[in-house]
Amino acid sequence: MDGLVLEYRDPLFGIFTIFLIVFIASFLTYAYNIYIERKSRKEYRNFIKKFELGDLKEDDYISLYTTYNLPFDSIILLASSFLHKGEYNKAVSVYQALLLHVKEPVKKEELLELLGKTYFKGGFLQRSKEVYLKILKFSPRNKQALFHLLFIHEKLRDYHKAEDIMESLDELDEDVKVEKTYMRTLAIIDNIRMPIEEKTEKLLTIFNANNLIERLFLQFLLRYNKQFFWKNIELFTLGKAIDLLWYLDRSEVNLDILMENKFLKSLYSAKGYIKDNSPSELFELSVLISTKNSTLDVNLDLNFYFICSKCKKTVPMYESRCPHCHSILTLKVKPQLSKGYYEKNSSLQ
Ligand SMILES: [Zn+2]
Repeated sequence: MDGLVLEYRDPLFGIFTIFLIVFIASFLTYAYNIYIERKSRKEYRNFIKKFELGDLKEDDYISLYTTYNLPFDSIILLASSFLHKGEYNKAVSVYQALLLHVKEPVKKEELLELLGKTYFKGGFLQRSKEVYLKILKFSPRNKQALFHLLFIHEKLRDYHKAEDIMESLDELDEDVKVEKTYMRTLAIIDNIRMPIEEKTEKLLTIFNANNLIERLFLQFLLRYNKQFFWKNIELFTLGKAIDLLWYLDRSEVNLDILMENKFLKSLYSAKGYIKDNSPSELFELSVLISTKNSTLDVNLDLNFYFICSKCKKTVPMYESRCPHCHSILTLKVKPQLSKGYYEKNSSLQ
């Protein structure tokens, strides 16, 4: 009987044991998976929290890349938020930290480009230059590096080196005709050894061949050679330099000549240097002229902003190269009416 029971119980016990082992094993696997999932969820939540606080450290970007396998492009996009906020140092730290972990040459090059761009935007021209030169060592046809080096040499007023860069770009079939004219103009204006008369002559020659440099020429004349300007105003489209003309002092304005010029007459009667009732084609000037001639107690003034004809972005100060798209001499002046200085002050009292 005992033997029978044993014979009967043994296989059952065996099956039971196997089931038990299988059950325990799957339970443990299940529990372990849940634990891992919860752990990573918690870490993920912490990450998200840091995001909301805008608190990600450089190391976090590294773990996003190495541990969480977030795509390289997404990390770059995240790091660019520092750039948009103007936190250049943070952006630089992220790019530098990533550079230590990234293996592929293409990604390394992209990171170096971003690093160079960030230094450039932050005004660290020397460092930016070093990064771009490093890129060119292993990728001599990198146009972004070449163009940025050109911008850097322009800012550092190193026109000879700019010339070399333009030659390289020329060889890469980039159209640098405009860049060449522009750099030649800057080199003349910045040449401290060249007399004003010679500069004027040379700039006039360039201007006659290409009126792209009109604003630069006018800027130069209104600062260093007003006599030439007043004698030759018919050469220029004065509206393009309305801001420069507006800020001229009363003593710097040639009254005899301006009375012969419709635009200048309305500009300076709007400014209050002369009295003239004829309306201007420019709405802003017309308003100023009519308020100047009325008995109304309105104190209006004229302000200017600049809009890039290429990227359509606006900037408050004139720059010969658009700070957004780097196009040359594309900023166009726009006048706008503003409250007069005295009225603004009295309303504060
Ligand atoms: Zn632009």
